[in-house]
Amino acid sequence: MSSDPNCIFCKIIEGKIPSRKVYEDDELFVFHDIAPWAPIHFMIVPKRHIPSMAQVTADDAGLLGRIMTLAPKLAIEQGCRPYPDGGFRIVVNTGAEGGQEVHHLHVHVMGGPRPWLRG
Ligand code: 5GP
Ligand code: ZN
Repeated sequence: MSSDPNCIFCKIIEGKIPSRKVYEDDELFVFHDIAPWAPIHFMIVPKRHIPSMAQVTADDAGLLGRIMTLAPKLAIEQGCRPYPDGGFRIVVNTGAEGGQEVHHLHVHVMGGPRPWLRG
């Protein structure tokens, strides 16, 4: 399915719920986390409703590659200092025991000066 009417991130992507947008293209939407763990904390999400990393297939390799190569570019644009003194953390929580709360695939990107609230 491309969009789930009950999914909070699908609603954010469709503009039905407001968010602080970082970036958007044909297949990806990026916005700031409402409860940031770190001074910089945004999430990269595919516009297509994929519940989690547990559902990705070989057909998603390109999409996942584009997410992972976008992350460092946006991290710098959002104010993360360069590697190696700066840097960022990428997290993808998957399933209940993986700490996933929103079941629309999202890649957390966190960075900025320590200490962080969490992590
Ligand atoms: P998860 O635990 O599923 O990996 O992370 C979900 C994240 O989505 C949490 O960090 C939470 O703060 C964030 N979140 C939940 N609801 C909203 C919302 O309505 N807007 C934004 N911007 N972030 C949200
Ligand atoms: Zn969704």
